[in-house]
Amino acid sequence: MSKVIYPGQTIGIIGGGQLGRMMALAAKEAGFRVAVLDPAMDSPCGQVADIRIVAGYEDQEALAELAEVSDVITYEFENIDYAGLKKVMEYAYVPQGAELIRITQDRRIEKTEIEKAGVPVAPFTIVETVEDLHRGIEQLGYPVILKTARGGYDGKGQLKLTSEGDLHEAQTIVESVPCVLEKIIPFTTEISTIIHRNAAGESYILPIAENIHVNHILHQSIVPARVTNAIEKKAELAAKAIAEHLDLIGTLAVEMFVVEEDLIINELAPRPHNSGHYSIEACNVSQFHQHIRAICGWPLRKPRLWESSVMVNLLGQHVVPATNQLAKHPEWSLHLYGKHEAKENRKMGHITIMTDDMERTLFELEETTIWS
Ligand code: ADP
Ligand code: MG
Repeated sequence: MSKVIYPGQTIGIIGGGQLGRMMALAAKEAGFRVAVLDPAMDSPCGQVADIRIVAGYEDQEALAELAEVSDVITYEFENIDYAGLKKVMEYAYVPQGAELIRITQDRRIEKTEIEKAGVPVAPFTIVETVEDLHRGIEQLGYPVILKTARGGYDGKGQLKLTSEGDLHEAQTIVESVPCVLEKIIPFTTEISTIIHRNAAGESYILPIAENIHVNHILHQSIVPARVTNAIEKKAELAAKAIAEHLDLIGTLAVEMFVVEEDLIINELAPRPHNSGHYSIEACNVSQFHQHIRAICGWPLRKPRLWESSVMVNLLGQHVVPATNQLAKHPEWSLHLYGKHEAKENRKMGHITIMTDDMERTLFELEETTIWS
Protein backbone atom coordinates (compact mmCIF):
# COMPACT_ATOMS: atom_id res chain seq x y z
CA MET A 1 0.00 0.00 0.00
CA SER A 2 1.57 3.26 -1.07
CA LYS A 3 0.82 6.64 0.44
CA VAL A 4 1.46 10.28 -0.30
CA ILE A 5 3.32 12.09 2.48
CA TYR A 6 2.71 15.85 2.64
CA PRO A 7 4.73 18.80 3.95
CA GLY A 8 4.12 19.23 7.67
CA GLN A 9 4.31 15.47 8.13
CA THR A 10 7.40 13.84 9.60
CA ILE A 11 10.09 11.80 7.86
CA GLY A 12 11.98 9.47 10.20
CA ILE A 13 15.55 8.63 9.28
CA ILE A 14 17.48 5.69 10.70
CA GLY A 15 21.09 6.88 10.91
CA GLY A 16 22.35 10.39 11.55
CA GLY A 17 25.42 10.70 9.31
CA GLN A 18 26.01 13.06 6.40
CA LEU A 19 23.62 11.23 4.06
CA GLY A 20 20.84 11.60 6.61
CA ARG A 21 21.76 15.25 7.07
CA MET A 22 21.55 16.03 3.36
CA MET A 23 18.27 14.09 3.08
CA ALA A 24 16.93 16.10 6.00
CA LEU A 25 18.00 19.42 4.50
CA ALA A 26 16.22 18.52 1.24
CA ALA A 27 13.10 17.44 3.13
CA LYS A 28 13.02 20.55 5.28
CA GLU A 29 13.12 22.79 2.22
CA ALA A 30 9.68 21.48 1.30
CA GLY A 31 8.38 21.89 4.85
CA PHE A 32 8.64 18.33 6.08
CA ARG A 33 9.61 17.69 9.67
CA VAL A 34 12.50 15.32 10.31
CA ALA A 35 13.13 12.83 13.10
CA VAL A 36 16.41 10.97 13.36
CA LEU A 37 17.60 7.89 15.24
CA ASP A 38 21.33 7.88 16.00
CA PRO A 39 23.44 6.95 19.02
CA ALA A 40 25.12 10.38 19.00
CA MET A 41 23.25 13.40 20.34
CA ASP A 42 25.04 15.83 18.03
CA SER A 43 25.12 13.71 14.86
CA PRO A 44 25.38 15.46 11.46
CA CYS A 45 21.66 14.81 10.88
CA GLY A 46 20.69 15.44 14.50
CA GLN A 47 21.99 19.01 14.12
CA VAL A 48 19.34 19.81 11.49
CA ALA A 49 16.50 17.48 12.60
CA ASP A 50 13.35 18.50 14.48
CA ILE A 51 13.33 15.41 16.66
CA ARG A 52 16.32 13.41 17.86
CA ILE A 53 16.08 9.93 19.28
CA VAL A 54 19.43 9.09 20.78
CA ALA A 55 19.90 5.31 20.81
CA GLY A 56 21.44 2.43 18.87
CA TYR A 57 20.01 1.48 15.47
CA GLU A 58 19.00 -1.95 16.73
CA ASP A 59 17.24 -0.64 19.85
CA GLN A 60 13.65 -1.88 19.41
CA GLU A 61 12.16 0.66 21.79
CA ALA A 62 13.93 3.52 20.05
CA LEU A 63 12.78 2.26 16.64
CA ALA A 64 9.22 2.14 17.99
CA GLU A 65 9.61 5.68 19.26
CA LEU A 66 10.86 6.81 15.84
CA ALA A 67 7.86 5.11 14.22
CA GLU A 68 5.55 6.80 16.70
CA VAL A 69 6.63 10.31 15.68
CA SER A 70 7.11 9.61 11.94
CA ASP A 71 4.68 9.33 9.01
CA VAL A 72 7.25 7.57 6.83
CA ILE A 73 10.53 5.88 7.69
CA THR A 74 13.71 5.76 5.60
CA TYR A 75 17.36 4.98 6.30
CA GLU A 76 20.69 6.47 5.33
CA PHE A 77 22.78 3.34 5.36
CA GLU A 78 22.38 -0.37 4.75
CA ASN A 79 23.99 -1.78 7.88
CA ILE A 80 20.91 -1.46 10.01
CA ASP A 81 19.27 -4.36 11.79
CA TYR A 82 17.20 -6.29 9.23
CA ALA A 83 15.04 -8.06 11.81
CA GLY A 84 14.49 -4.75 13.61
CA LEU A 85 13.37 -3.07 10.39
CA LYS A 86 10.99 -5.96 9.65
CA LYS A 87 9.45 -5.48 13.06
CA VAL A 88 9.06 -1.72 12.49
CA MET A 89 7.24 -2.49 9.24
CA GLU A 90 4.48 -4.16 11.22
CA TYR A 91 3.36 -0.81 12.60
CA ALA A 92 5.07 1.90 10.52
CA TYR A 93 5.16 2.97 6.89
CA VAL A 94 8.49 1.91 5.36
CA PRO A 95 7.97 2.18 1.58
CA GLN A 96 11.47 0.95 0.74
CA GLY A 97 10.78 -2.31 2.57
CA ALA A 98 13.37 -4.48 4.28
CA GLU A 99 14.26 -6.80 1.41
CA LEU A 100 16.68 -4.29 -0.13
CA ILE A 101 18.50 -4.11 3.20
CA ARG A 102 18.70 -7.89 3.52
CA ILE A 103 20.21 -8.14 0.05
CA THR A 104 22.66 -5.25 0.10
CA GLN A 105 24.05 -5.84 3.58
CA ASP A 106 25.55 -9.14 2.54
CA ARG A 107 27.85 -9.31 -0.51
CA ARG A 108 27.05 -13.02 -0.97
CA ILE A 109 23.35 -12.31 -1.46
CA GLU A 110 23.93 -9.03 -3.32
CA LYS A 111 26.12 -10.57 -6.01
CA THR A 112 23.73 -13.48 -6.48
CA GLU A 113 20.79 -11.09 -6.95
CA ILE A 114 22.71 -8.93 -9.43
CA GLU A 115 23.39 -12.03 -11.49
CA LYS A 116 19.71 -12.96 -11.30
CA ALA A 117 18.92 -9.53 -12.75
CA GLY A 118 20.96 -10.61 -15.77
CA VAL A 119 23.94 -8.31 -15.28
CA PRO A 120 27.55 -9.44 -14.84
CA VAL A 121 29.60 -9.21 -11.65
CA ALA A 122 33.30 -10.00 -11.26
CA PRO A 123 33.96 -13.77 -11.13
CA PHE A 124 33.61 -14.66 -7.44
CA THR A 125 33.26 -17.47 -4.94
CA ILE A 126 31.73 -17.52 -1.49
CA VAL A 127 34.31 -18.21 1.19
CA GLU A 128 33.17 -19.44 4.57
CA THR A 129 36.01 -21.81 5.45
CA VAL A 130 39.75 -21.98 4.84
CA GLU A 131 39.06 -24.84 2.37
CA ASP A 132 36.72 -22.51 0.44
CA LEU A 133 39.54 -19.98 0.30
CA HIS A 134 42.02 -22.44 -1.20
CA ARG A 135 39.45 -23.76 -3.65
CA GLY A 136 38.50 -20.19 -4.61
CA ILE A 137 42.08 -19.16 -5.33
CA GLU A 138 42.59 -22.28 -7.40
CA GLN A 139 39.48 -21.50 -9.39
CA LEU A 140 40.01 -17.76 -9.88
CA GLY A 141 43.81 -17.49 -9.87
CA TYR A 142 45.80 -14.56 -8.46
CA PRO A 143 45.32 -11.62 -8.14
CA VAL A 144 42.10 -11.74 -6.15
CA ILE A 145 40.45 -9.59 -3.54
CA LEU A 146 38.89 -10.95 -0.37
CA LYS A 147 35.98 -8.94 1.04
CA THR A 148 34.07 -9.54 4.24
CA ALA A 149 30.49 -10.38 3.32
CA ARG A 150 29.08 -7.83 5.73
CA GLY A 151 29.90 -4.43 7.13
CA GLY A 152 32.70 -3.21 4.82
CA TYR A 153 32.97 0.35 3.54
CA ASP A 154 35.68 2.63 2.11
CA GLY A 155 37.82 -0.44 1.44
CA LYS A 156 37.56 -1.64 5.05
CA GLY A 157 37.28 -5.41 5.38
CA GLN A 158 39.18 -6.01 2.13
CA LEU A 159 42.44 -7.74 1.37
CA LYS A 160 44.17 -7.97 -1.97
CA LEU A 161 45.98 -11.27 -2.55
CA THR A 162 48.67 -11.37 -5.18
CA SER A 163 50.55 -14.51 -4.11
CA GLU A 164 50.74 -17.28 -1.52
CA GLY A 165 52.50 -14.85 0.80
CA ASP A 166 49.13 -13.17 1.44
CA LEU A 167 47.40 -16.41 2.40
CA HIS A 168 48.12 -16.26 6.11
CA GLU A 169 46.43 -12.90 6.59
CA ALA A 170 43.50 -14.01 4.45
CA GLN A 171 43.01 -17.15 6.53
CA THR A 172 42.79 -15.10 9.70
CA ILE A 173 39.93 -13.10 8.19
CA VAL A 174 38.16 -16.15 6.82
CA GLU A 175 38.33 -17.89 10.19
CA SER A 176 36.42 -15.07 11.82
CA VAL A 177 33.79 -13.95 9.28
CA PRO A 178 32.17 -15.10 6.02
CA CYS A 179 33.65 -13.51 2.90
CA VAL A 180 33.54 -13.38 -0.86
CA LEU A 181 36.59 -13.80 -3.02
CA GLU A 182 36.66 -11.83 -6.27
CA LYS A 183 38.86 -11.71 -9.30
CA ILE A 184 40.68 -8.37 -9.58
CA ILE A 185 39.21 -6.53 -12.55
CA PRO A 186 41.71 -4.49 -14.61
CA PHE A 187 39.18 -1.72 -15.15
CA THR A 188 39.77 1.36 -17.26
CA THR A 189 37.30 3.50 -15.32
CA GLU A 190 34.97 3.23 -12.34
CA ILE A 191 31.53 4.77 -12.69
CA SER A 192 28.34 4.90 -10.68
CA THR A 193 24.74 5.10 -11.69
CA ILE A 194 22.17 6.39 -9.23
CA ILE A 195 18.61 5.37 -9.93
CA HIS A 196 15.45 6.47 -8.12
CA ARG A 197 12.09 4.78 -8.34
CA ASN A 198 8.74 5.48 -6.69
CA ALA A 199 5.85 3.19 -5.82
CA ALA A 200 4.12 4.06 -9.10
CA GLY A 201 7.08 2.50 -10.93
CA GLU A 202 8.36 5.81 -12.28
CA SER A 203 12.16 5.83 -12.44
CA TYR A 204 15.00 8.16 -13.43
CA ILE A 205 18.75 7.92 -13.51
CA LEU A 206 21.07 10.80 -12.60
CA PRO A 207 23.90 11.72 -14.98
CA ILE A 208 26.58 9.05 -14.60
CA ALA A 209 29.59 9.86 -12.43
CA GLU A 210 33.18 8.78 -13.04
CA ASN A 211 34.78 7.91 -9.72
CA ILE A 212 38.40 8.21 -8.73
CA HIS A 213 39.40 6.42 -5.53
CA VAL A 214 42.50 7.04 -3.47
CA ASN A 215 43.36 4.41 -0.85
CA HIS A 216 39.98 2.75 -1.57
CA ILE A 217 38.14 5.93 -0.54
CA LEU A 218 36.24 7.99 -3.09
CA HIS A 219 38.32 11.05 -3.92
CA GLN A 220 36.64 12.66 -6.93
CA SER A 221 33.46 12.23 -8.94
CA ILE A 222 33.58 13.73 -12.41
CA VAL A 223 30.28 14.30 -14.19
CA PRO A 224 29.47 13.45 -16.90
CA ALA A 225 31.68 10.35 -16.77
CA ARG A 226 34.22 10.31 -19.58
CA VAL A 227 32.91 7.13 -21.21
CA THR A 228 31.45 6.30 -24.62
CA ASN A 229 27.74 6.62 -25.38
CA ALA A 230 27.58 2.84 -25.66
CA ILE A 231 28.88 2.43 -22.10
CA GLU A 232 26.49 5.07 -20.85
CA LYS A 233 23.57 3.22 -22.43
CA LYS A 234 24.76 -0.12 -20.99
CA ALA A 235 25.13 1.41 -17.52
CA GLU A 236 21.60 2.79 -17.64
CA LEU A 237 20.15 -0.50 -18.80
CA ALA A 238 22.03 -2.40 -16.08
CA ALA A 239 20.81 -0.03 -13.35
CA LYS A 240 17.22 -0.30 -14.63
CA ALA A 241 17.40 -4.10 -14.75
CA ILE A 242 18.68 -4.30 -11.17
CA ALA A 243 16.17 -1.73 -9.87
CA GLU A 244 13.31 -3.64 -11.45
CA HIS A 245 14.54 -7.00 -10.27
CA LEU A 246 14.71 -5.61 -6.71
CA ASP A 247 11.34 -3.78 -6.94
CA LEU A 248 13.17 -0.67 -5.91
CA ILE A 249 11.43 2.14 -4.11
CA GLY A 250 13.76 4.98 -3.10
CA THR A 251 17.38 5.20 -4.22
CA LEU A 252 19.85 2.65 -5.51
CA ALA A 253 23.46 3.47 -6.31
CA VAL A 254 25.17 0.99 -8.62
CA GLU A 255 28.98 1.01 -8.66
CA MET A 256 30.44 -0.35 -11.89
CA PHE A 257 33.77 -1.16 -13.51
CA VAL A 258 34.26 -0.23 -17.15
CA VAL A 259 36.52 -2.71 -18.94
CA GLU A 260 37.03 -1.53 -22.51
CA GLU A 261 33.51 -1.72 -23.95
CA ASP A 262 32.13 -3.94 -21.19
CA LEU A 263 30.59 -3.29 -17.81
CA ILE A 264 30.89 -5.25 -14.59
CA ILE A 265 28.81 -4.43 -11.53
CA ASN A 266 30.90 -3.93 -8.39
CA GLU A 267 28.38 -3.25 -5.64
CA LEU A 268 25.06 -1.69 -4.68
CA ALA A 269 24.01 0.85 -2.08
CA PRO A 270 20.29 1.23 -1.33
CA ARG A 271 20.58 4.93 -0.47
CA PRO A 272 22.02 8.22 -1.73
CA HIS A 273 25.69 7.82 -2.56
CA ASN A 274 28.84 9.89 -2.15
CA SER A 275 29.25 9.98 -5.94
CA GLY A 276 25.86 11.72 -6.29
CA HIS A 277 26.61 14.73 -4.09
CA TYR A 278 27.43 16.81 -7.19
CA SER A 279 23.70 16.77 -8.02
CA ILE A 280 22.96 19.23 -5.18
CA GLU A 281 24.40 22.07 -7.26
CA ALA A 282 24.77 20.64 -10.74
CA CYS A 283 21.32 19.16 -11.38
CA ASN A 284 17.75 20.41 -11.41
CA VAL A 285 16.96 17.72 -8.84
CA SER A 286 19.49 16.43 -6.31
CA GLN A 287 19.77 12.78 -5.31
CA PHE A 288 18.40 13.80 -1.89
CA HIS A 289 15.38 15.67 -3.24
CA GLN A 290 14.60 12.80 -5.58
CA HIS A 291 14.92 10.30 -2.71
CA ILE A 292 12.45 12.29 -0.61
CA ARG A 293 10.07 12.53 -3.60
CA ALA A 294 10.32 8.76 -4.14
CA ILE A 295 9.58 7.73 -0.55
CA CYS A 296 6.83 10.35 -0.16
CA GLY A 297 4.97 9.12 -3.22
CA TRP A 298 5.58 12.30 -5.21
CA PRO A 299 6.16 12.25 -8.96
CA LEU A 300 9.86 12.10 -9.81
CA ARG A 301 11.56 14.84 -11.78
CA LYS A 302 13.52 14.09 -14.93
CA PRO A 303 17.13 14.93 -14.04
CA ARG A 304 19.03 17.49 -16.03
CA LEU A 305 22.68 18.49 -15.61
CA TRP A 306 23.24 22.25 -15.64
CA GLU A 307 26.97 22.01 -16.19
CA SER A 308 29.86 19.53 -15.97
CA SER A 309 31.01 19.23 -12.41
CA VAL A 310 33.55 17.67 -10.14
CA MET A 311 33.04 16.74 -6.51
CA VAL A 312 36.08 16.33 -4.26
CA ASN A 313 35.85 14.76 -0.83
CA LEU A 314 37.26 16.50 2.22
CA LEU A 315 38.71 13.95 4.61
CA GLY A 316 39.91 14.82 8.11
CA GLN A 317 43.39 15.81 6.92
CA HIS A 318 41.98 18.09 4.17
CA VAL A 319 39.70 20.31 6.19
CA VAL A 320 42.20 22.86 7.52
CA PRO A 321 44.18 23.29 4.26
CA ALA A 322 40.93 23.59 2.27
CA THR A 323 39.48 26.12 4.69
CA ASN A 324 42.68 28.17 4.43
CA GLN A 325 42.19 28.43 0.67
CA LEU A 326 38.48 29.21 0.64
CA ALA A 327 38.98 32.92 0.10
CA LYS A 328 40.67 32.24 -3.23
CA HIS A 329 37.93 29.99 -4.59
CA PRO A 330 34.50 31.51 -5.07
CA GLU A 331 33.77 28.61 -7.45
CA TRP A 332 33.88 26.05 -4.61
CA SER A 333 30.55 25.00 -3.13
CA LEU A 334 31.63 23.88 0.30
CA HIS A 335 29.73 21.29 2.32
CA LEU A 336 30.84 20.37 5.82
CA TYR A 337 28.87 17.77 7.73
CA GLY A 338 29.25 19.12 11.26
CA LYS A 339 31.47 16.30 12.53
CA HIS A 340 33.56 17.40 15.46
CA GLU A 341 36.62 15.23 15.24
CA ALA A 342 38.59 15.60 11.99
CA LYS A 343 40.10 12.11 12.08
CA GLU A 344 42.45 11.01 9.31
CA ASN A 345 40.48 9.62 6.34
CA ARG A 346 37.11 10.41 7.92
CA LYS A 347 34.65 11.97 5.47
CA MET A 348 34.15 15.48 6.86
CA GLY A 349 32.66 17.24 3.85
CA HIS A 350 33.04 17.83 0.13
CA ILE A 351 33.45 20.55 -2.45
CA THR A 352 31.58 20.73 -5.75
CA ILE A 353 32.80 22.78 -8.69
CA MET A 354 30.75 23.38 -11.82
CA THR A 355 32.94 24.05 -14.83
CA ASP A 356 32.96 24.53 -18.58
CA ASP A 357 36.58 23.34 -18.73
CA MET A 358 36.97 20.10 -16.79
CA GLU A 359 40.62 19.46 -17.68
CA ARG A 360 41.58 22.90 -16.45
CA THR A 361 39.54 22.58 -13.26
CA LEU A 362 41.12 19.19 -12.48
CA PHE A 363 44.54 20.71 -13.08
CA GLU A 364 43.77 23.65 -10.80
CA LEU A 365 42.60 21.27 -8.07
CA GLU A 366 45.98 19.53 -8.27
CA GLU A 367 47.72 22.88 -7.99
CA THR A 368 46.07 23.62 -4.62
CA THR A 369 48.14 20.68 -3.16
CA ILE A 370 45.37 20.11 -0.59
CA TRP A 371 44.90 16.52 -1.73
CA SER A 372 48.47 15.67 -2.64
P1 ADP B 1 33.47 -0.57 -0.39
O1 ADP B 1 32.27 -1.12 0.27
O2 ADP B 1 34.61 -0.37 0.53
O3 ADP B 1 33.17 0.63 -1.27
P2 ADP B 1 34.07 -1.90 -2.90
O4 ADP B 1 33.74 -3.31 -3.21
O5 ADP B 1 33.35 -0.85 -3.64
O6 ADP B 1 33.94 -1.76 -1.33
O7 ADP B 1 35.65 -1.71 -3.11
C1 ADP B 1 36.30 -0.47 -2.94
C2 ADP B 1 37.18 -0.17 -4.13
O8 ADP B 1 38.18 -1.19 -4.29
C3 ADP B 1 36.45 -0.15 -5.46
O9 ADP B 1 35.83 1.10 -5.70
C4 ADP B 1 37.60 -0.46 -6.43
O10 ADP B 1 38.38 0.70 -6.66
C5 ADP B 1 38.41 -1.47 -5.66
N1 ADP B 1 37.95 -2.83 -5.99
C6 ADP B 1 36.99 -3.54 -5.34
N2 ADP B 1 36.78 -4.73 -5.90
C7 ADP B 1 37.59 -4.81 -6.97
C8 ADP B 1 37.84 -5.80 -7.99
N3 ADP B 1 37.19 -6.98 -8.01
N4 ADP B 1 38.76 -5.51 -8.94
C9 ADP B 1 39.42 -4.34 -8.94
N5 ADP B 1 39.25 -3.37 -8.02
C10 ADP B 1 38.35 -3.59 -7.04
MG1 MG C 1 32.25 0.75 -3.07
